[in-house]
Amino acid sequence: MDESLRNELLLLRDFGFTHLDVRETTANGQQSTANDDDLLADLEKLALVCEKCRLAKTRTQVVYGVGNPKADLMFVGEAPGRDEDIQGQPFVGRAGQLLTDIIKAMKLTRDDVYIANVIKCRPPENRNPEPDELEACRPWIRRQIELIQPKVIVTLGRIPLQSLTEKGYAISSVRGQWLEYNGIKVMPTYHPAYLLRNPAAKKDVWSDMKKVMAELGMGG
Ligand code: URA
Repeated sequence: MDESLRNELLLLRDFGFTHLDVRETTANGQQSTANDDDLLADLEKLALVCEKCRLAKTRTQVVYGVGNPKADLMFVGEAPGRDEDIQGQPFVGRAGQLLTDIIKAMKLTRDDVYIANVIKCRPPENRNPEPDELEACRPWIRRQIELIQPKVIVTLGRIPLQSLTEKGYAISSVRGQWLEYNGIKVMPTYHPAYLLRNPAAKKDVWSDMKKVMAELGMGG
């Protein structure tokens, strides 16, 4: 069995799937091979009906992720809030507007990058996600990253940083320093919601984004 198929099956097993519908064959009887964009879209279909944790009961919509499936730059946030739960898209509320402004300041658009969260469903009253919820949701973001293969991941705040790396980093000690996740460079920075409460920290985030732009050869 080829390695990528084996990986796919192991991942689905981790998600708890016990059987699969077989992909349609083409007119000449050949099995059609999906590219990574198709796999990302297939993954979304599975995510949209996920019931792996209690958040499935209270969500309005699953917030899977948006943007360029071939993005060099990926932003990873915590969890959907009220606006995101209603609209089904990450970072569309007040913190999201600030993230959009940061992306624009980098001379990019939301369509150039990929934006997702480590938790796909809104925790009630925007409480912090529980450890078992983070664990249940982790395969989705991991697989999204595997398929997108960004050059740089920017984690927004403590929870995405800790959940993705499964390390107990304190954001205050690692912010602005390059880390690594599965061979991909990770830049931990503050969450935009924190910047709304502490505008003085915006300059730190901008200094982090300058490092990201330099790494991606974007000048800046
Ligand atoms: N905060 C997040 O971490 N993610 C969102 O999608 C919105 C707010």
